Amino acid sequence: MQALVYTDIQKLIYREEKNPKLLNGESIIKVSASGICGSDMHAYHGHDSRRIPPLILGHEVSGVIKEGKDIGKKVVLNPLITCGKCNYCKNKREHLCPTRIILGMNRPIERQGGFAEYVSIPDKNIYELPKNLSMKEAPIAEPCAVALHAVELGENELSSELKDSRALVIGAGAIGLLCGLILSKVKKCKEIFIVEPNDNRLKESLKYLDASGFKPNSKSILKDDFDIVFDTVGLEITRKQAIESIKPGGIIIHIGLTQPSGNFDFRKTTLQEITFIGTYCYTNKDFEKTLNILNNNEIGSLGWIEYRDLKEGASAFKEIHDGKCIAPKIILLI
Ligand SMILES: [Zn+2]
Ligand SMILES: [Zn+2]
Repeated sequence: MQALVYTDIQKLIYREEKNPKLLNGESIIKVSASGICGSDMHAYHGHDSRRIPPLILGHEVSGVIKEGKDIGKKVVLNPLITCGKCNYCKNKREHLCPTRIILGMNRPIERQGGFAEYVSIPDKNIYELPKNLSMKEAPIAEPCAVALHAVELGENELSSELKDSRALVIGAGAIGLLCGLILSKVKKCKEIFIVEPNDNRLKESLKYLDASGFKPNSKSILKDDFDIVFDTVGLEITRKQAIESIKPGGIIIHIGLTQPSGNFDFRKTTLQEITFIGTYCYTNKDFEKTLNILNNNEIGSLGWIEYRDLKEGASAFKEIHDGKCIAPKIILLI
């Protein structure tokens, strides 16, 4: 099969690779569309110890079953593969399974990803493509599930209702925009602010999202002003903004993990009873709920997605790396 292979830091080659083998309890999917995620970019920069070249990246995948149980069925994949037996898996918190792995990783276990003609996946990770969602848009289900899980973790902790809360979203990439869209369109939150350093990307996001948009250093982002803050970037400087702008008693949801360490204002967090919540992926239930949200067109137009051919994948990665990409999401078509 043809695949886009991550061969070295900032290097991707479109080349011939071995087809995946069909294993018991799994299926082989003929990939139709595969989204580029922030975590793929992180790997591309050589910053991910779980994704070591050579490796086929990509975990936001839709396609058609080619071998396995339901040949010919149009599907979307939940790329988070878990054991199904541990306490987390049995208690509907599969995303915390100690042996979890995502498509497009090769440490500690190898699972080649979706930037290829074919990918193999356990049957329990396969969902039927929702009727009203196109095959090429369907990979958005994965980041959308990440955003839904994050928003609902925050919602559960808030002392006021989410719809009446003042929310700040840091970052207008796919996760930032999707958090904003879920807050606005699904949760009916009325006061949403979004900050993003790239002017063009901010403008593009505001075409789809009913929010006030600013540069991160804008004087309009006040201290102690938000009930809930979503840091979808995870830099030391964005965490600083999250802590500065959160109200006493507020909730910070930490989703991005660009810089895993750095200074943190323990003083304010303690004295002002700030709740800081880390969030990762989604439960199976979140993933199903997301497919329903997308099927009902609840987050509106997905016109902010850009499409490229898998063959052109290397230049898409380069464009994102160079900061030239305005679209919050690029999906590669096979
Ligand atoms: Zn992702
Ligand atoms: Zn488990």
